[in-house]
This record gives sequence, structure tokens and C-alpha cells, in this order.
Amino acid sequence: MSLPAPANTPFLPASSCPACGLTVSDLQRTGRLGCACCYEMFHPIIAPQLHRFHHGTHHVGKTPRRHAFAYRKEELRAALAHAVSTEDFEQAALLRDQLTALASL
Ligand SMILES: [Zn+2]
Repeated sequence: MSLPAPANTPFLPASSCPACGLTVSDLQRTGRLGCACCYEMFHPIIAPQLHRFHHGTHHVGKTPRRHAFAYRKEELRAALAHAVSTEDFEQAALLRDQLTALASL
């Protein structure tokens, strides 16, 4: 996996993973992440690579239908809570309607 040169990398809040200590230069030298936390930490660097390898950064493969529904409901609930907390009631109403529709399936 070839990674972009340091000059091309976006700003990172810290230069090493707080969990395993992997640095940006370690990542660029080895092309390997050290732990699960690294995926979050180095996301700006690895996301373009993941997109190229997997044709996207989100899993879109086979998922049991009930899990897909549960996941979508959880996404909608989180978005609804955010919309309510930011007083975006128009968006909240749309999300509520989507949740209701999903529940009826
Ligand atoms: Zn790590």
C-alpha cells in the first residue's frame, strides 16, 4: 500500500496513535495499522486508500436483514437526537417519519 507523502497529508490532531503509539511515519513506512484505534486516528490518511481498495469506506456487503434494519434504526435514532438537540425540527420530523416507516416493515 503506497501512502501519500507527509507534505500531502491532511492535518492530524496528533502525530501518533494514543493506544499503540504508531506514528504517521510508521504507517507510511510499513503500510500497516497498529490497532483498532489507528483506523480513527489515521482516517484522513487511510480513507482515500480504503476507498480505492474497497470501492467505498462503508461495508455494503451481505448483512443479515434484521441486522441491517437494526443498524439503520440506530442511525436514524442518533440523527433524530442530533436534530432535536440542534432544534432542527423539520429534519427531526423527517427522521421520525423514516423511523415509523422502518418500524412498519
Ligand atoms: Zn493504534
